[in-house]
Amino acid sequence: LLSISDVSKNFGDLQVLDGLSLDVAPQSFVSVLGPSGAGKSTLFKILTGADRAVSGTINFGGVPLTFPNTHFAFMPQRDALMPWRRLIDNVTLGLEVQGMKRRDARKQVEPLFETFGLKGFEQHYPQALSGGMRQRAALMRTVVQQRDMLLLDEPFGALDALTRTSMQRFLEARWEKERWTALLITHDVREAVFLSDRIYVLSPRPAKVLRTFDVPLPRPRSLADMASAEARA
Ligand code: ATP
Ligand code: MG
Repeated sequence: LLSISDVSKNFGDLQVLDGLSLDVAPQSFVSVLGPSGAGKSTLFKILTGADRAVSGTINFGGVPLTFPNTHFAFMPQRDALMPWRRLIDNVTLGLEVQGMKRRDARKQVEPLFETFGLKGFEQHYPQALSGGMRQRAALMRTVVQQRDMLLLDEPFGALDALTRTSMQRFLEARWEKERWTALLITHDVREAVFLSDRIYVLSPRPAKVLRTFDVPLPRPRSLADMASAEARA
């Protein structure tokens, strides 16, 4: 579905991406692992049109990626929520930009507040929430969008272990059910193994692909199961 080929990027003298190539097959879940500062978020900025590659090609569905487009539901690493919108209206935003009326969008997202542990906070503004709560709201907004592909930049970074596991389970269950395509940036190897079909390991900056792992089927059991197995051992 998405094919990134030999993409390079620099900010002045700072080379960030060095001939990066990766492929995301339709309905697959692909993770990108790499050290801090490698250039992972920069890659997403290029995919979403917030920045431009210096060289290389990016194809989506077999044709060159152009901007603007409606291919991606994107969860940025930070500053995902609009501070002037209540939480519920931040979440409905994902559907409103697709033309849905806010009233209908609210109906659709309201039940999810329970799942995401945010029930009762619908009318709060983002500033009044913890970092982890904001991150869950941003994830909620991203997964409700009906796009071709999900781009998640460290969506579980600010979450405690328990909440992280429940969000990962939610994401896994939703992915099993709906089978959209996902590209996930993470630092967590176990998370990548648990969620993905394929893992790309990037080098330190300037980023290029060091290793590609295809996760064998059947997929490992859930992280919670792995954790309890470890605890028993
Ligand atoms: P982390 O895992 O910490 O989020 P990352 O892999 O996402 O790291 P990037 O945010 O892509 O890393 O940044 C890669 C490098 O590019 C960093 O050295 C950063 O300082 C630099 N960089 C990113 N954006 C810009 C910019 N707009 N101007 C100049 N340098 C930038
Ligand atoms: Mg980043």
